[in-house]
Amino acid sequence: MTMILPGATIGIIGGGQLGRMLAMAAARLGYRTVVLEPQPDCPAAQVANEVITAAYDNPQALDQLAELSDVITYEFENVPVDTAEQLSDSKPVFPPCEALKVSQDRVTEKRFLAKAGIKTAQWRVVETEAELEAALLAFDGKGILKTRRFGYDGKGQYKFSAAPGETAAAGFAAVGNAPSILEAMVEFTHEISIIAARDQAGNIRIYDAAENVHKDGILIRSTVPVSVSSTMAGLAADAARKLLEALNYVGVLGVEFFALANGTLLANEFAPRVHNSGHWTEAACAVSQFEQHIRAIAGLPLGDTRRHSDCVMDNLIGDEWKSVPNLLGEPGAVVHLYGKAESRPGRKMGHVTRITKRL
Ligand code: AMP
Repeated sequence: MTMILPGATIGIIGGGQLGRMLAMAAARLGYRTVVLEPQPDCPAAQVANEVITAAYDNPQALDQLAELSDVITYEFENVPVDTAEQLSDSKPVFPPCEALKVSQDRVTEKRFLAKAGIKTAQWRVVETEAELEAALLAFDGKGILKTRRFGYDGKGQYKFSAAPGETAAAGFAAVGNAPSILEAMVEFTHEISIIAARDQAGNIRIYDAAENVHKDGILIRSTVPVSVSSTMAGLAADAARKLLEALNYVGVLGVEFFALANGTLLANEFAPRVHNSGHWTEAACAVSQFEQHIRAIAGLPLGDTRRHSDCVMDNLIGDEWKSVPNLLGEPGAVVHLYGKAESRPGRKMGHVTRITKRL
């Protein structure tokens, strides 16, 4: 068990908005932060104490990060596993490297979920066009082709709807002919997610489930509480608990699920980090997912996950951030912008959480 006290330095790999919000939560508890990120003027650089501008696998940069940090974490799941393993030789790295490794490849992720007793959609490995054709046949021509690695926000995906003219060749080309999986199309009624935390002693705290809406593969809205049954939300929380234990996890984890009309719950994927569908916790809980993560990795007691309000979180995507002056005039609206210099279509620029009811 490693406890680091306020005043110590937390290393964060990745300088996007999640890194920024982690750095802000760390600062609120009196910690210093150092961020490793190749992109200069990244969102986290504006709020961290120090920034190392270098590639995630730059050996000198990793030495420097290890030297400056008392504990190291990351804000995205595509941190090279070698980087995390190398750093963990000299400093504690949380969440554990195993969680990174499992989540980086959809095949290892699906197998790990199955082994932990968590159901997913049916899926097939696709390495060639012929394998894709066979998989499509097995799933009645419908499914989502997803690259095994490096997919996010719907990127590296292609949807087959059994429509006339659809060909395996075109779909495979659309994902760059990369090693992929074909997932059977899930006729879900709702998408929900769980944000959960585990500390170094194995204590677990779970936030209320959020109900999520995606557009073009990007999360646009999370609503709490969910409209699915409490039995369904309970199944999701149980699955998250199993996963935290199976991974011997430390930190905050996000798990996404599909809820089906017949009461079945399927896990879609998990992220070994704070998660967009947990941003609402900043406005509606005493302890946000960001502070919870910092507490877990610092060896401090986990915080209360109860919500004090119902709420709806909307991402501000592309030019939507321009509505901020109006949003600030709304009572009960909590606005957070990420300090990104340039807005582009599909780019997450910030979010707003509207408190809908105080409990
Ligand atoms: P992912 O990148 O895997 O989270 O997928 C992004 C979004 O695509 C999900 O949140 C769903 O809305 C949709 N999606 C992904 N996989 C499936 C599936 N097997 N069946 C139906 N919809 C899916």
